[in-house]
Amino acid sequence: MAKNLYPDCKQCRREGCKLFLKGERCLTKCSFDKRPVIPGVHATGRKKVSEYGIQLREKQKVRRAYCILEKQFRNYYEKATRSKESTGWALLKMLELRLDNVVYRLNLGSSRTEARQIVNHGHITVNGKKVNIPSYQVKVGDVIAVKESKQNLEMFASLKGLKVNTPKWLEFDTNTLTGKVLALPERDDIDLNIQEHLIVEYYSR
Ligand code: SF4
Repeated sequence: MAKNLYPDCKQCRREGCKLFLKGERCLTKCSFDKRPVIPGVHATGRKKVSEYGIQLREKQKVRRAYCILEKQFRNYYEKATRSKESTGWALLKMLELRLDNVVYRLNLGSSRTEARQIVNHGHITVNGKKVNIPSYQVKVGDVIAVKESKQNLEMFASLKGLKVNTPKWLEFDTNTLTGKVLALPERDDIDLNIQEHLIVEYYSR
């Protein structure tokens, strides 16, 4: 499977914002906080960014935040253009409803990358059945849980009984390590500062 090999912290610096790609470390020892500049020796001398450059950066920011490769991101965009909703929002909603993102939002992974690994390794069930496809789209009413045989793994056992924050469209019981999709996400549930119309403009060129 293709992988993004560009270092996580450099991705944040390139996009000019924190993308929270490294879990705990993003909250404690963030290199963007220390050095919020574009990577590269000529970074400071760069000229004014064109309209195309602004659109490209917005697309890259969202793609990197959700850890999606270019081809797959483009596929999401194509699907979003066929939606009855606005293309930009339809795109973001599909990204939010990915199983790896939901696992991250439920606090089962400290970053989307970790959440994806958890799904890939078959630790997650949806409605009682193992699902190891990170791009799986969850639906309202779906029950997402840590597989019973994996609940004793340190990464999950340490969550038991804790109080965790989840977006309002999800609920999570840390005693049973079971979450539920209560509703579809709304625009204000997306915590990253995103101007999705720029992504639509980028792909519409
Ligand atoms: Fe980004 Fe996290 Fe690295 Fe900070 S620590 S630059 S938020 S990946």
